Amino acid sequence: MDIVVTALIEPASSLESFRALLLDKAFRPLRAVGWRRALCLDLCERVEVLEYYDRRVRTTGASFPLPAVIRVPGWLHRLPQIVPPTRRNVLLRDGFACRYCGWEGTSAQLTIDHVLPRSRGGRTSWENVVAACAPCNRRKGDRTPAEANMPLDPPPRAPSALQLGRRGMVMGDAPAEWEPYL
Ligand SMILES: [Zn+2]
Repeated sequence: MDIVVTALIEPASSLESFRALLLDKAFRPLRAVGWRRALCLDLCERVEVLEYYDRRVRTTGASFPLPAVIRVPGWLHRLPQIVPPTRRNVLLRDGFACRYCGWEGTSAQLTIDHVLPRSRGGRTSWENVVAACAPCNRRKGDRTPAEANMPLDPPPRAPSALQLGRRGMVMGDAPAEWEPYL
């Protein structure tokens, strides 16, 4: 697989949008994987490829079709149970909406608010970070939701990998090749 990547004759960035939809044995969507991982799984014959994109990765020696929908043959595949509360993951969990007022925005418009402010020892954990619009974040300032009279109901919780993965597929632009499987 390293050979494929190092021998690329096109910019890798032009391939980033060609993610593959990973299905479990029962054809249920698990999550999206990057093209490198998908191609590696395909070339190693570790997955069944159900759909390919009409797009090939060209290297100095050969070219390979990019997998669009892949299926793991057994139940061996396990999703990581611990998902980190990265900015994107928090926005996905909160549906790209402010948890205080419900305003829906884009990734660039929304901020991440620490429920117990960092200045007061608040940590970046699933239970302590929420998506917030800039006005709510400013209004809350260095206060807790109770002090600011801005209740969080329900309180933020850690999502499962599966919940996040599904939400990511719905919120993102799903390629046409995925549609029969979603
Ligand atoms: Zn808001």
